[in-house]
Amino acid sequence: MKILFVASECAPFVKTGGLADVIGAVPKSLKAHGAEARVMLPVYPALRPLADKAREVWQDADLMGGDARLLACTDEGIDLLLLDAPHLFDRAGAIYLGPDGRDWPDNAERFAGLSRAAAAVGTGALDDWMPDLVHMHDWQAGLVPAYMSQISDQPAPTVMTIHNIAFQGLFDRRIIKKLGLASRHYTRDGAEFWGQLGFLKAGLAMADRITTVSPTYARELMLPEFGLGLEGLMRHRRDDLTGILNGIDTDVWDPANDPDIAAPYSARGLRGKQKNQRALMKRFGLRDGDGPLFCVISRLTTQKGLDLLLEALPWLVSNGGRLALLGSGERDLETGFAAAAHKWPGSVGTVIGYDEPLSHLMQAGSDAILIPSRFEPCGLTQLYGLRYGTLPVVARTGGLADTVIDANEAAMAAGVATGVQFAPVTTAALEDAIARTCDLYRQPAVWTAMMRRAMKHPVGWDTAAGQYMALYRSLADSD
Ligand code: ADP
Repeated sequence: MKILFVASECAPFVKTGGLADVIGAVPKSLKAHGAEARVMLPVYPALRPLADKAREVWQDADLMGGDARLLACTDEGIDLLLLDAPHLFDRAGAIYLGPDGRDWPDNAERFAGLSRAAAAVGTGALDDWMPDLVHMHDWQAGLVPAYMSQISDQPAPTVMTIHNIAFQGLFDRRIIKKLGLASRHYTRDGAEFWGQLGFLKAGLAMADRITTVSPTYARELMLPEFGLGLEGLMRHRRDDLTGILNGIDTDVWDPANDPDIAAPYSARGLRGKQKNQRALMKRFGLRDGDGPLFCVISRLTTQKGLDLLLEALPWLVSNGGRLALLGSGERDLETGFAAAAHKWPGSVGTVIGYDEPLSHLMQAGSDAILIPSRFEPCGLTQLYGLRYGTLPVVARTGGLADTVIDANEAAMAAGVATGVQFAPVTTAALEDAIARTCDLYRQPAVWTAMMRRAMKHPVGWDTAAGQYMALYRSLADSD
């Protein structure tokens, strides 16, 4: 089976969040199931060296007003179809934001271009490769079914995956003509969302199947507080909606073999974790303490509930806890955590920025990872935490609810707990979770047993890859 993945990010080439990790890992795990997945990805400046070595397989003299080519190559074990459209993607700055920190003003054209090129491939534009289905990821790929329907009566079937429904790709409807989108798609059952053009809405309305990245988030999406205006559509399409839990790349995230950490360790030989803790404390200027060393590795946004952590910090510190935080995002949170490091030197350390190798050392050197998200489609950092014996302390929502087993009495008696969950997402509940974590930490035998159990919890892609394959087959069969 041949599958075209369409996405705006793919690790290790270009990453702003969990989407990239998923796109970098799933195609590899599908290979083991006999599928051949190719990832279509724009040529941002970081991908230029790779593009220069790739083979041209398609060109278009007018893709959203400029020259475009598709280039095929394989790198890091991933088969890529690179969309080289310099007028859309070859520019300094972040992939979605300009130097002023705002969305690029032509994001609609940029990702309509990606969708349009994918639609060409999905309708047979390549001489030597025709996908059996197209798998679109997030709003950037949402227009693929619309464009395919304009090109062919028999386009490839489509799957749309929601990695985060908060990013909907909403634009002024007057852009429709410029994007070459047929006006018939602009209806309440199609691409229209409260008077705007919605890329995600279009994809969700028109895809043959919809998936999201955890079973709990799939249910939450049908509720107003999580569906963010698309809950009605989600309820309408509930029979086509599946939650398939993300995994992680267990080769890249392996404490026994990780070039970015200070010492290797495993569930059987935990001693190396201490060395990582010392290295981490040095990096963040932290002192010894009698409570756990918590970490946060996150975008600093309201979604992630880190304003609650700022409020809970006096409590965390007074309970003997320490915190190492790595992240960037909203200005208030950046300055809030920088100020906290200043206020509690030795107990709170902050690095503002994005640092992939440091994130590995933090997973290896911390005792627990805090994830107080208001909503979390799946979340990956709790999965890395499990793998590294860094116990997740999480809000009971989305994929966090599906992956962490709370250390309540029943789970402790049954010997299955792997972390701490809390609800509702309030400062008081977070403080209570921090206190429970400190209590568990002060019982070394209990804590070590939980660490070992967490490290053995299956977090790879095998199960998800099997579920995706079953979904693909059901679509291909019904074709
Ligand atoms: P989201 O996709 O909503 O940002 P996820 O938990 O699904 O959240 O994925 C976040 C990914 O980005 C993880 O791989 C995490 O380690 C990484 N990450 C987030 N912030 C940073 C940072 N400041 N430095 C390094 N890695 C980060």
